[in-house]
Parts: sequence; structure tokens; C-alpha cells
Amino acid sequence: MLKIENYIGGNLVKPVSDNYLDNFNPATGEVYSLIPDSDERDVQAAVEAAKKAFPVWSKMPAETRHDILMRISALIERDLDFLAEAESIDNGKPKTLAKTVDIPRAVSNFKFYATAAIHFASEAHETTGQAINYTLRQPLGVVGCISPWNLPLYLFSWKIAPALAAGCCVVAKPSEITPMTAYLFSKLCIEAGLPGGVLNIVHGLGTRAGAAIVTNKDIKAISFTGGTATGEWIAREAAPKFKKLSLELGGKNPNIIFADCNYEEMLTTTVRSSFSNQGQICLCGSRIFVERPIYEKFKTDFIEKVSALKIGDPLDDSTNIGAVVSRQHLEKVLSYIELAKEEGGKILLGGNRVDLSDNSYNNPKSKIQNPKLSGWFIEPTIIENLPFDCRTNQEEIFGAVVTIQPFDTEEEVLSYANSVRYGLSSTVWTENLSRAHRMAERIESGIVWINCWLLRDLRTPFGGIKDSGMGREGGFEALRFFTEEKNVCVKFS
Ligand code: NDP
Repeated sequence: MLKIENYIGGNLVKPVSDNYLDNFNPATGEVYSLIPDSDERDVQAAVEAAKKAFPVWSKMPAETRHDILMRISALIERDLDFLAEAESIDNGKPKTLAKTVDIPRAVSNFKFYATAAIHFASEAHETTGQAINYTLRQPLGVVGCISPWNLPLYLFSWKIAPALAAGCCVVAKPSEITPMTAYLFSKLCIEAGLPGGVLNIVHGLGTRAGAAIVTNKDIKAISFTGGTATGEWIAREAAPKFKKLSLELGGKNPNIIFADCNYEEMLTTTVRSSFSNQGQICLCGSRIFVERPIYEKFKTDFIEKVSALKIGDPLDDSTNIGAVVSRQHLEKVLSYIELAKEEGGKILLGGNRVDLSDNSYNNPKSKIQNPKLSGWFIEPTIIENLPFDCRTNQEEIFGAVVTIQPFDTEEEVLSYANSVRYGLSSTVWTENLSRAHRMAERIESGIVWINCWLLRDLRTPFGGIKDSGMGREGGFEALRFFTEEKNVCVKFS
């Protein structure tokens, strides 16, 4: 069985302990590869390699860093189909989604930050008649990047690319639940000629390998995307060590639909914003508020469209809904559906685990004998009749479960939307321009989409407010995060 390896000092290496964890295929529920169970010794080796590489990498002309990052981007693009299949097998997501969203975005992340490296600039301030101040932006040193399982290579590269572009050396950990594309990516970095030690990838458990990155004294900053509880722990550990922190955490995003919206576009996009990636995108809208005059029509049409989604083999091109990432996550999502029922929710659609075990898995390259789809599938689920402040509507489920609720006024829906501890993103559907701006100004979220969803421009600030995190990724903001400012004041003679 394939044993994934760590990438340290430019080489693919075994974990020091020689211990491995099982890596599951969510569609079959079977173990299909093994992951290094790395510990603080592997992290320390990665940090040493990164420290050694830093003087050369940080002083390299930005143009040379640009060329290397562009080569990495081109290699990801060359292997797009292969990587998309690997992502689908590892995560359970439809391959079509990985092929159109996840892997192309990893290509763009590297392209974007390769060019950003050569356009990054700093400021100068004249103290009139007395002096000129200029700001140096110097790479921090060795930094840690920790990413989750829902968009594995997409989010992994979203952190690594700006860190490398800024001149930092990186110790990174992908989620132990979805390590495969990070492993394949490490081979591409070797092929691209990335100097050894500039990027190090340590696989393993969050509580062991991840915690060792957070607490390592030589790591100057942590860029983390994951759950709010993990973010809290990281903030507690990192604060007394004065590490810079960027935390992208959970969400419970509102999708607010006014009666004057472009109905057909809203409906199609709302199906996507609710159930893409089995609802396992931090930006999915899981609380749908619909203005009363169109509530019943929306309910009927939404149920009809969602019923037509095909749940099935992630590798089959006709599949819309693949498998949930793990057994634990399946159980979590199902437990929230039970909670919704206890809270008085009416299940309008779905609500159950799907048994596809009579169907064969469509991967001709599978090493598993006669693989069956015995993995973790759940029906997309629509619930109504729940108050805005019940647990189902307040806690992050992170699955294909949405609630729908009518509203009458802007004030009312704003109070529902802003009632949660989270503030990551929101969507507003209206053709009324003034109302769109009014709502955008008053909604408590870091990102507001008007008449669209997941339309991303990589130059824009990305991140949440409240318990959805701190700091912003994207654009030059990420390069600023990975650099330290130093003001130099030169007195006029
Ligand atoms: P987790 O917080 O469980 O894990 C995220 C990463 O942190 C994983 O690599 C994990 O490793 C690691 N980790 C876990 N514990 C520690 C620790 N003590 N120290 C250091 N690292 C640790 O999140 P999930 O992977 O379950 O991801 C889902 C969450 O991510 C959701 O809440 C979702 O909203 C959020 N998210 C936020 C986004 C945003 O941009 N705001 C985007 C995408 C997701 P391992 O998996 O090996 O345990």
C-alpha cells in the first residue's frame, strides 16, 4: 500500500517514528494509503532545514522566486486531471468539482503570488523639510501553514504561495484526513527545482504534528485555516510567544433572498451555495432567509432542483454530490439532523444516510478488489420551521444541511443574519441597488456577495470577523502578513 512521505530539506523522507496512520477513501470507506504519523522530531528537522534555506531564499531576487513559483504553477496545470482524480479519491468530492475548482485554483494561487512577488512594494513618508522615512518589508523567517480537509490543495497552496513569494521558508501541514495532493505537490516542487528546505511538508495529526508547528520557538508566524475551536487553542499557545497569527475559521453564513431578485439566477446559485462539495465549504450559505411573498414558491422550486442532484460515485462525471470526508464527519452531520428534529424542525428533503453499497466504484486504477461504494454519503437536506436562535441555526454543521425561513423586513432579517457568533461571508439577492448597499454595510461578515456566490478576485481581502477569525488573506495583504515592517528615518542634511 502506498506510503505517503514527508518532504523535508528537499527530500521525501519517512517519519522518524516510522509510524503511519490509515488514509481512507470516503467513497468506499476503505483504507487506501498510509500517512506519516509525524511528531515534534519531524517538525524540528523541517524547521532546521527551513532555517538553513532562509538566507539564500530570502535574498534571492524576486524575479527568480517568481520564475520558480511559475514553474510550480505550470506543473500543477500539467497534472490537472491526475491531481483532480487524486483529490476526489482522497476527499470524496466529485472529480468534476476538483477539476473545475480545486486544482485550477491551486494553479492560480501560484501564478497570482509569483507575479505579486515582483509587484510588491513598500511606502515612503517625507517628514516635510526634515527627513525621509522608508519602510523595509523583510520576510519573517520560518513560518507555519496549517490547512483543513475541505479544499485540500486549494487552501494549502493559498497559504504556501504567498509565504514563499514573500521570501519566507515554510513548514506546512495538510489535514491528516486529506494528505494526498499535498504529497503529490511535494514531488512537483522537487521537479520545479524549488531549493531544498524552502518548503517542508510534515504530515500527521493536528494534535501532534500541528501542535509541534504552533509551539516551535523558531516559527515566527502561523497561517491557519480550520475550525474555531482549534483556532482558539492556537491563539492561546501563540500569543505569549508573540507569533504573528492569521486565523481563517468557521462560518454559519446567511443567504438573504428578497422578492425582487433575479429569481432564476438566485435559484441556480443557491443550490450551488448550499450543496457544493457536500456543503463542506466554509463559504456555503447554510441559513437561507426568503422574503415572505416568494417563500412558498422558493420552497417548491428549491426542493425540486435539489431533488434532481445526483448522489453517487465521485469519479463519475454525472455525480453532483459525492461522499462526506470521514465517518466522524458523517456522524456529526447526521447528529445535527437529529438535533434539528428535536428542536421542532420539519425535514422538507433528505435527512438520511445514503446506502450505495450495491454500486461499484468507478476507478479502474483502484488497488482495492471489487471496490463498492460503501462509504459515507448523505442526502442533501432542507429543513424549515426552526427559530433563528436554535442550535441548528447557530452552530456550524459544515455539511449538506440548510434551513429555510421567511422574513418580512430588512431589520428583521439583519437581526437573524447577525445573531450568530460567526461572521465569515453572506449573500444578498436583490435588484434594488440602494438596499444592496444598505445590507452590505450592516451585515456582520468579512465578505458580502451581492447577486452571486464564490465569485473570487484574488486581489481582494479574504477573511472573517467575530469568531470566524482574524487577519485577511489575499492580495498584497498576505505578503504583508509574511513580512515584518521596518521604518528607516534618514534626516536631510
Ligand atoms: P480543524 O480545525 O480540525 O483542522 C484544521 C487543521 O488544523 C488540520 O490540518 C488539523 O490537522 C490541524 N489541527 C488540528 N488540531 C490542531 C492543533 N492543536 N494544533 C495545530 N494544528 C491542528 O478543522 P477541519 O480540518 O475540521 O476543517 C473544517 C473547519 O475549517 C470548519 O470549521 C471550516 O469552517 C473551517 N474552514 C474555514 C475556512 C476559512 O477560510 N475561514 C476555509 C475552509 C475551512 P488534522 O486534520 O490532521 O487533525
